[in-house]
Amino acid sequence: MRNQNNPSSRIHAEGLDRADPLARYRAQFELPSDNIYLNGHSLGPLPKASLARLTDVAAREWARDLTASWNTAGWSALPKRLGDKIAPIIGAPAGSVVVSDGVVTNLFKAVAAALALRPERRVIVMEGSNFPTDNYVVQGLTAWLGHGHTIRFVESDGLLAAIDPQVAATVLTHVHYKTSAILDMAAITARAHHVGALAVWDLSHSIGAVPVDVGTAKADFAVGCTYKYLNGGPGSPAFIYVAPTHQAAAHQPITGWWAHKAPFAFDRDYAPAEGTSKMLTGSQPILSMAAIEPGLDMVANILPENLHRKCGTLGETFLAALDPVLDGFGLAVASPRDPAKRGGHVALDHAEGARIVWALAARGVMADFRAPTTMRFGFSPLFLRHVDAWDAAAALIEVLKTRAWDRPEFALSATVT
Ligand SMILES: *Cc1c(COP(=O)(O)O)cnc(C)c1O
Repeated sequence: MRNQNNPSSRIHAEGLDRADPLARYRAQFELPSDNIYLNGHSLGPLPKASLARLTDVAAREWARDLTASWNTAGWSALPKRLGDKIAPIIGAPAGSVVVSDGVVTNLFKAVAAALALRPERRVIVMEGSNFPTDNYVVQGLTAWLGHGHTIRFVESDGLLAAIDPQVAATVLTHVHYKTSAILDMAAITARAHHVGALAVWDLSHSIGAVPVDVGTAKADFAVGCTYKYLNGGPGSPAFIYVAPTHQAAAHQPITGWWAHKAPFAFDRDYAPAEGTSKMLTGSQPILSMAAIEPGLDMVANILPENLHRKCGTLGETFLAALDPVLDGFGLAVASPRDPAKRGGHVALDHAEGARIVWALAARGVMADFRAPTTMRFGFSPLFLRHVDAWDAAAALIEVLKTRAWDRPEFALSATVT
């Protein structure tokens, strides 16, 4: 089982690395030397250029130039300038995306705007198994509004049937945070429009891993994360897209001065800024915002299809190495087997998933766990090698064979996994 044509061999993985057109990006990251980092779907690693950028923003733009930097260093322009770099990656026109706030806040603004555009309708369609924060935001917003909205929770196979003329909006995550399954954005959005509803998309697990085309799919609103596959840094600000057709009519409720048409006129009364700029709120964390750009530039220079292809071959390498032992150890693949249908990570279910993830960490393989039974292995395409995927599978096999997870120290749980 050692030849290069055998997809479950390490030699095969080495061959894929030699032929990998994205291999050169690995050297552009600070990576811990003692582990294989498979949590890039949760927090991308630090691009070396971001460290330099952060130092420059702090030591020069902040320490020396102070308030002048809002203009001279372009701080005020960052939300739109970064938005314009994200736009082509998701198939959006220039001027339709801004970077500001977090995913939670942007989802709140987008859903509030969407509901206000469909005031006579009371139903929102969501996937019950979505990353819960998205559900919480919509539950919080609708309860607070007090207009009697209800959320119709369905799973992916029931989505199209659940979208009927009562629906104001669908609020869905394109790539599932747990299973990594990709929803058909074009078909679901078309169905929503067919019944007069709007489609709000969360691209948190998509951008930087999976091709997205909000323009062709005619998505109405979209939000997404910059600290996952864009490697923007812990808690880095998120983005929000508003389709050009809604930019005049859409309004969001957090109407701070950055959403005003003339913030420095200091008028008493709010007047909306033009276009997507009215989705802004207030002053942004400039250090975090500036740190997004180097990672974003890397992704912007690569065709999304190529990023997705590499996610696929990394995942295939991992699964091919595991295949012979899957059944024997009670492992189940919780992600689509077809790499075209899954995002950047591969999910495996095991009853002892939490303890297995801890035992892997003790061996230098960093994956994560999502209750009750799901282990997530993130195959972020810019910094991982196929041999890393193969070595991670080998470590997992060893943990299962030796029952290394079955030790008291791995029964402990941590706050963040
Ligand atoms: C990562 C992620 C978030 C994160 O929201 P924050 O505001 O950054 O905490 C939200 N929703 C989904 C679907 C995500 O994947």
